[in-house]
Amino acid sequence: GELPERLRSTVKRRNNVLGPGYALNYREPVEFVSGRGAHLFDRDGNDYLDAYNNVPCVGHAHPHVVEAVSRQMAAVNTNTRYVQESLVDYAERLLATMPEALSRVSFACSGSEANDLAMRVARFHTGGEGIVVTRWAYHGLTREVASFSPTLGAGSPLGPNVRLIDAPDPRLVPPGSSLPDYMRSQVRGAINDLERHGYRLAALITDCAHSSDGLFTDPVGYLRDMVEEVHAAGGVYIADEVQSGFARLGESMWGFSRHGVLPDIVTMGKPMGNGMPISGVVFRPEVCDEFGQNVRYFNTFAGSSIAVAAGAAVLDVFEAENVQQRVLDNGRALRAGLEEITRESPYVAEVRGSGLYVGVELVKDRESLEPDRVRADHVINDMRERRVLISGTGEAVNVLKIRPPLAFDAADVTRFLETFAEIAEMRL
Ligand code: PMP
Repeated sequence: GELPERLRSTVKRRNNVLGPGYALNYREPVEFVSGRGAHLFDRDGNDYLDAYNNVPCVGHAHPHVVEAVSRQMAAVNTNTRYVQESLVDYAERLLATMPEALSRVSFACSGSEANDLAMRVARFHTGGEGIVVTRWAYHGLTREVASFSPTLGAGSPLGPNVRLIDAPDPRLVPPGSSLPDYMRSQVRGAINDLERHGYRLAALITDCAHSSDGLFTDPVGYLRDMVEEVHAAGGVYIADEVQSGFARLGESMWGFSRHGVLPDIVTMGKPMGNGMPISGVVFRPEVCDEFGQNVRYFNTFAGSSIAVAAGAAVLDVFEAENVQQRVLDNGRALRAGLEEITRESPYVAEVRGSGLYVGVELVKDRESLEPDRVRADHVINDMRERRVLISGTGEAVNVLKIRPPLAFDAADVTRFLETFAEIAEMRL
């Protein structure tokens, strides 16, 4: 369709003023001026169903978060160089959601900053430099973190101290092996290769949902084997919970818990403040104490009163609205519906995921499993035309990425499935 004139003009002006690297979602871009729950509204008041954005986790413009931030903003905004009772309260509440051994938390402003600090601490603690990540991982945008984020393109090379392993896709496991054995042997191989090149291991870092790799959440358990290899080599395990944290996967507050492992460092961000820039790095004290005695850490905006107000308000809503149980229930219904709709399709290899994070892998046919990026692109844009927002993921961008605000309710599931069924009729 025709872009309305005002939107077309904004897109043009945008291209004249924004720096490099920006991209817009959808063939027909869209502008939103308000939101509620899992719904977004354009200037004409059209209601879009948001099945993509994980940052507004408790819902767009959630009144409790808005109120808490506004009240704090109107009172005062200070930083971590002053005593802030609210910061300490929040840190205690956040740590209470973790295993006891993870008992220190530092604050930052983005997932990238959190991973940057996590890796600095890992390097300091281990004295090593080697880093192991999955083949199509994204961990962030600073120079250090970009050096172990293979998704950033040819202009952003990996560090010589970085080794890639396959994501935990059960279909890659060689005959006679198992997923845990396969993942363990890949980690061992990467560590050996690093050592051959003079790099001792600093850290294995993985996204507990493997979002950019194409969303691999199950079966769980293999992480235990990977972490054992890492510890045997003197490295640390960093769980990147920027995507998988805050009950996204339904069964637990944190993705690593599903695997029954204890990370050395945990990073989190995106949904933490429902849109306020706040991220966190949680440590075992043994891993971070010496860093703290030798390196000063002050991050101007991190742990500010308003960031903490947002973070605490999110935890309030999690408790008051029983968010995790809702994620489990609605996620199950969403996946079951998608399985039902796509069961007969020759183009759908798999519906996978956990909680309110669902991937639908599109292929040219079920025998070759060759990725079908074009079909995925059509489905994503067809859904957008019917005002339902999703995206794509995986190296070939052939996995439909369905990752709504956790406020997605039963009526939203129904609307989503009705729209998806209409598109599937044409495309799948
Ligand atoms: N880690 C993961 C797993 C992510 O998905 C992202 C963002 N997509 C980041 C880190 C970086 O977070 P941010 O964009 O807040 O810097």
